[in-house]
Amino acid sequence: MTQIDDLPPLREVIRKHGLTPKKSLGQNFLHDLNLTARIARAAEPLENITVVEIGPGPGGLTRALLTLGARRIVAVERDPRAIAALQEIAERYPGRLDIVEGDALKIDLREQLGPERARIVANLPYNIGTALLIGWLTAEPWPPWYDQMVLMFQREVAERIVARVGDKAYGRLAVLAGWRTEARILFDVAPTAFVPPPSVISSVVRLTPRAEPLPCDAIALQRVTEAAFGQRRKMLRQSLKSLGVDAGALLSDAGIAPTARAEEIDVEGFVTLARIFARR
Ligand code: SAM
Repeated sequence: MTQIDDLPPLREVIRKHGLTPKKSLGQNFLHDLNLTARIARAAEPLENITVVEIGPGPGGLTRALLTLGARRIVAVERDPRAIAALQEIAERYPGRLDIVEGDALKIDLREQLGPERARIVANLPYNIGTALLIGWLTAEPWPPWYDQMVLMFQREVAERIVARVGDKAYGRLAVLAGWRTEARILFDVAPTAFVPPPSVISSVVRLTPRAEPLPCDAIALQRVTEAAFGQRRKMLRQSLKSLGVDAGALLSDAGIAPTARAEEIDVEGFVTLARIFARR
């Protein structure tokens, strides 16, 4: 393993700070600084960039991002045991690492950043990864406060993000991601790269916000996709009834056959449905 900086190896950091992985916090730590460097490189160029990192843990990815030149990192970590480890990194890179202790689902990142635009780079805790992503995809105003997201998920979630109509994994997440971003799986990471190893393969995904996504209300799109994919095997004239509107009329106004199923409707079709739904 090549050395990426002059700080101690991650194994030593984890031992020193008693960072025994906790399942409740989705803690599967990367020990290989070459691999964290590969993830950080996927977010390059990093010079002059402020990075938001969720769940830095012992700081493997954080160190790689700093080594590759990130101007500043705002790192949000819920586990108090990791804070001392992160402070040692902050001391090594004065003024470049702001540690925020707390729950990423509750913290207003924009308050931490001010008017600055940022890039989100993270090996997300698997239990809140989807919730965080949906929050970022439905951010207002748009274009959002971040210019790119490079995120690690379980492979199955990554497939649901990049899926196209007709794919088995196509669903609500694919519609939201496809509407506002261009999303691509960059590479896979084997379970053996983590301590403890998870039971599934992970994937690094890059999402780049579209400058001008089709105009649509994010909440309406969420509601329509929730209703449609909540009963994905049913015809839309049935599944959209849960929206409390005349589903037949909604579909007819959108030019969609009442017998169509959610999995057959592309992003544009859902945007049209959401726009008409929002008007009612
Ligand atoms: N970035 C490290 C790495 O790659 O080895 C750790 C990744 S680990 C998969 C997820 C991290 O997210 C853990 O450090 C965990 O404590 C943290 N975490 C879990 N829930 C969180 C939350 N709600 N807010 C912020 N951090 C959280």
